[in-house]
Amino acid sequence: MQYVSTRGAAPVLDFEGVTLAGLAPDGGLYVPSEWPRFSEAELRAMRGLPYAELAAQVMQPFVGDSLTPEQLRTMCTAAYGRFAHRAVTPLVQLDEQHWVLELFHGPTLAFKDVALQLLGLLFEEFLGRRGENLTIVGATSGDTGSAAIDAVAGREGVDIFMLHPRGRVSDVQRRQMTTVLAPNVHNIAIDGSFDDAQAMVKRMFGDTAMTGQFRIGAVNSINWARLMAQVVYYFAAAFQLGAPERKVAFSVPTGNFGDVFAGYVAAQMGLPVERLIVATNVNDILHRALSEGDYSAGTVTPTVAPSMDIQVSSNFERLLFDLGGRDGTAMAEQMRGFEATKAMRLTNAQREGAAALFTSSRADADDTAQAMRWAYEACGQVLDPHTAIGLHAAREADVAADVPVVTLATAHPAKFRDAVERATGVRPHLPARVGDLFQREERYAELAGDYAEVAAFVAERATPAA
Ligand SMILES: *Cc1c(COP(=O)(O)O)cnc(C)c1O
Repeated sequence: MQYVSTRGAAPVLDFEGVTLAGLAPDGGLYVPSEWPRFSEAELRAMRGLPYAELAAQVMQPFVGDSLTPEQLRTMCTAAYGRFAHRAVTPLVQLDEQHWVLELFHGPTLAFKDVALQLLGLLFEEFLGRRGENLTIVGATSGDTGSAAIDAVAGREGVDIFMLHPRGRVSDVQRRQMTTVLAPNVHNIAIDGSFDDAQAMVKRMFGDTAMTGQFRIGAVNSINWARLMAQVVYYFAAAFQLGAPERKVAFSVPTGNFGDVFAGYVAAQMGLPVERLIVATNVNDILHRALSEGDYSAGTVTPTVAPSMDIQVSSNFERLLFDLGGRDGTAMAEQMRGFEATKAMRLTNAQREGAAALFTSSRADADDTAQAMRWAYEACGQVLDPHTAIGLHAAREADVAADVPVVTLATAHPAKFRDAVERATGVRPHLPARVGDLFQREERYAELAGDYAEVAAFVAERATPAA
């Protein structure tokens, strides 16, 4: 499998190359040159497989020759063996039509573990082969950071520098990052928003003073391997609900558009997906883009669902590229316009293509609290605020009554226990595996929102590429 940039002017890479790359050098994002497609018979043969085995089969076409099937299977077994539930991503029924897919049974209680536990193993394998070092630089609005840090802490050949917006991640989220004291882990609190932090990370990828010395890698969902690993649970859930004979709809609490884009990939691969519901909070750029064609960034409003508090959704470019006929030159021009003005209109082809599969919705604070209350009072399920936003969108969406709607549960409710308690009166407990979080020592640097200072901090501590 080969990977091309959405902006059409970067070298083509194989899976190993794309895993170690971040943003493409032309500023675009890497996507497979074509979508592999499973026949109905192949889909039927995958039903009932254990999660790790299903993962290896779904991902193999994307991995190509970069790993043998045996290597890939071994990695999936190791990555998903760290999950606290035997089913890895269990499906829970709420009522006749609604289901919740629990993606939070990994080591850091967020769905990001599903992809990052595998990515940590991929990094180790590919870097070891090449005798190289990788400097991971990431920005997190909460869950990415802890999941990435857990996935690479102590691993050979990798240093990780994780920026978080000071005071805008929960205590649990911060401590999950800052209490990992492995010497290759560097946490940085910056003054500013998640978007400011992400802008610095993007800038570092284009900073030749840095890229000349270090191999800068990404763990944000701009990394293709992450999206690939997320495709798997759409298959797992749909098979349990009757696919490929029956269509299934998914509602996805969305921030950077990575998770829901994985659902789009699953549909391109032949999984019968009825609808993908993009759930946003009041930071609703994606809702405006999908409902009105208006992709324009405002300012970020902090909410009870911080992992969705972003205004620019990097992975949306991957969808626009695919829907716009995969024209890299046109995409580069459209994105140049967006970067200059922070606003753009979707083309008719992009709008119509998106409307065929996507619906969107926006939840404010009341909607979010009400969804948490309904899940608890009517169904006995305690949901975190992100998942509740997904459920609100799922219940609002116009989906035929005989189509099951699966809401992706992206975080364990104990990560956001204050918001959960305010809405439901229930204070969720941290699971035993992270129970001593508030007794552990923390370590992190505090820097101003200044790029030069952050770059100097990284340059002093990172290991050169080779
Ligand atoms: C990261 C995250 C999201 C958003 O996922 P994207 O792939 O960025 O759209 C939603 N909920 C939680 C809890 C998250 O950690």
